[in-house]
Amino acid sequence: MIYPGALFDTEEFIGKYTCPQGQFGIAVTGDSTDFRLWAPTASRVELVLYPTGNDTPEIARYEMYPAEQGTWYLHFDSCLAGMYYTYSVTTMAGTVEAVDPYAVTTGVNGRRGMILRLSDTDPEGWDRDTYVQNIDTYCDSVIWEVHVADFSAAINASKYPGKYMAFTEKGLRNSYGKAVGLDYLQNLGITHVHFQPLADYGSVDETGIKVQYNWGYDPTNYNVPEGSYSTDPYHGEVRVKELKSMVQALHQAGIGVVMDVVYNHTYSKDSNLNRVVPGYYYRSTQSGVYSDGSGCGNETASDRVMFRKYMLDSILYWQREYHIDGFRFDLMALHDLETIKEIEEAVHAVNPRALIYGEGWTGGLSVLAEDERASRENIIKIETTEGTAGSVAIFNDIIRDSLKGNNFRLDAGGYVNGRACDHATGVVFGMMGATDSMGCFSFNTNSALQSINYMCCHDNLTLRDKLQITNPRATDAQIAAMCRVGAVAIFTGLGIPFMLGGEEMLRTKGGHFNSYNAPIEVNRLDWDKLRSGSTCQRLSEFYRGLIALRRSQPVFRQDACDVDIDYDISPNGMVAMKIKWRNTLAVTILNPTDSPVEYTLPAGDFDQFVARDRSGNIPINTGISGIISVKAMSGEVYICRE
Ligand code: CA
Repeated sequence: MIYPGALFDTEEFIGKYTCPQGQFGIAVTGDSTDFRLWAPTASRVELVLYPTGNDTPEIARYEMYPAEQGTWYLHFDSCLAGMYYTYSVTTMAGTVEAVDPYAVTTGVNGRRGMILRLSDTDPEGWDRDTYVQNIDTYCDSVIWEVHVADFSAAINASKYPGKYMAFTEKGLRNSYGKAVGLDYLQNLGITHVHFQPLADYGSVDETGIKVQYNWGYDPTNYNVPEGSYSTDPYHGEVRVKELKSMVQALHQAGIGVVMDVVYNHTYSKDSNLNRVVPGYYYRSTQSGVYSDGSGCGNETASDRVMFRKYMLDSILYWQREYHIDGFRFDLMALHDLETIKEIEEAVHAVNPRALIYGEGWTGGLSVLAEDERASRENIIKIETTEGTAGSVAIFNDIIRDSLKGNNFRLDAGGYVNGRACDHATGVVFGMMGATDSMGCFSFNTNSALQSINYMCCHDNLTLRDKLQITNPRATDAQIAAMCRVGAVAIFTGLGIPFMLGGEEMLRTKGGHFNSYNAPIEVNRLDWDKLRSGSTCQRLSEFYRGLIALRRSQPVFRQDACDVDIDYDISPNGMVAMKIKWRNTLAVTILNPTDSPVEYTLPAGDFDQFVARDRSGNIPINTGISGIISVKAMSGEVYICRE
């Protein structure tokens, strides 16, 4: 049942029945437990207690008391920690049982909330753990995306394959003795791991009886860690402690944690939110059906007071309780600009270095007005707050599709795979951090700090698979050469470099276009690709060199307004990008053709840092000037200090 939005959006309802300052969920101390729920359309709410998180019958049931602004309340003069609970909510839609939307953990499969004293879940040394300090601006970061299970499922030496705890293991090696897991990430030099959803989702049976896999974009309990990544999904405290341990281990390795958050829709319309306040949290059309801008059957209403508050409370909870260093918003254009701005301000008030970015598009038709969306077209409306590392960034799909070809037309080539002339402009656009629409692109940013520059992420084909499909006869070595040209554009351009975990070792999903629920064998990282002298090993080292170069050269990490940018595009598609910052001039030349190309460097004595398959923060050649020859299918980088 959907109430017409008109009811919830009336001044009377907002004034009398919303509670934007309320504190919801449970509060547990040594001798008291308090419960508070917002359920303004309920005529009755009962608290139901259980001894365990699944199967056992209820042991007690208590009437809750209606309190101010549509809230319901109950107080106990005793500590109920360790018990599990639900709410039985009666509305015009009937009586249903729901998990508290503010539950901090649950039993197996998220069916019952758990009453937990959060301090009991802190791993040793957690009080000394804090956000990483490894960036001053968004452009200092290097983001590596992964799914918890993909990361370690194929690490034979791991004691915790597929689990949060695999990120705490040091000293793991693959079959060839190469460092894998956490040690590998530390060596690669990335600043942040971006995790596909960590919050509880509904599509995988946590009991493990059925072997299932999913990326997790089907949220059920927003403030609860997913149980299938826990070593014991039955005991709610375990997943909390293990996720904290994962964050702590990454922090100790100098790496920040970004969380992919999916507030734009719920797994099903029969969500806990909808059970507690039917219809409130979702957008509906004039005719009263669910708007489906997510493509998943529903979309949430960030523009309603209490969902905006819910998102804000949830984000701040993850940030403070788990020390999360950044958030990536799935289908961010389904959220309204005002909500995203409020979140940005609140998150940065806690940690000015936190990363905030998202997908600047929707997954279907939405009723949200286009000018209110936090979309890439509107990103220019979000200014950077003084004293923060950035504001809100968006995935730059123009440089993505320009470098490797259209994401959705599988056989379409791009700059590095056969269509250089058509796509050179898009590459330049990306390397300027999308700060200039160049008269031909549908959006631009107001700062390079808003452009996530990437070639691929978890969605669609992996970079390697895309390049293989567009060049069926290409060898791994030839595909690696294409990857290198693209990576040079990503890492020596202005903007925020982002990569799919394993992209740097020619990760393949066997051509699978959408592996969200494909078996783990399709999705997992194959660490045995790392072997001395192998194409994958050498490509990984090349990425590592580019990361080291970027991290050591501030010129690549500036905002567009602080540098002078000039570029050349040759008739054959060669791009030369010149970025001048203070007394440093960096020249990146991309030659995606199959023959060498001559180029005349600007006046000056240059050091060369990238040459075909070599890269790093130490010059390969010095004292270079005048005309150079850039090898076929390669990127080269020269830096001159005046
Ligand atoms: Ca789950």
